[in-house]
Amino acid sequence: MNIIIVNVNAMKKFTCKEMGGPCEEVHEGATAMEIAQQNFAHVIATTDKAHEQMRAQMTKPGKGPTKEEWWAWFNKEWDKKRDEA
Ligand SMILES: [Zn+2]
Repeated sequence: MNIIIVNVNAMKKFTCKEMGGPCEEVHEGATAMEIAQQNFAHVIATTDKAHEQMRAQMTKPGKGPTKEEWWAWFNKEWDKKRDEA
């Protein structure tokens, strides 16, 4: 019998703000990739002025940091972050 143990302590939370955004929307996930995807979906879904710069960075290459630069930064933030959930 195989029992799959889900590590419920492995979730981390990031707010939009902590990811360089303007609002307090909370993203929660077990991997940096999950959080990044949530933030991407969140920012892309916005239409307000506050998120405009982030939307531009995500949709127009060359506007902000490269994907590699962004991931290098975010992986560090991820490692620094304590498990909260
Ligand atoms: Zn936001």
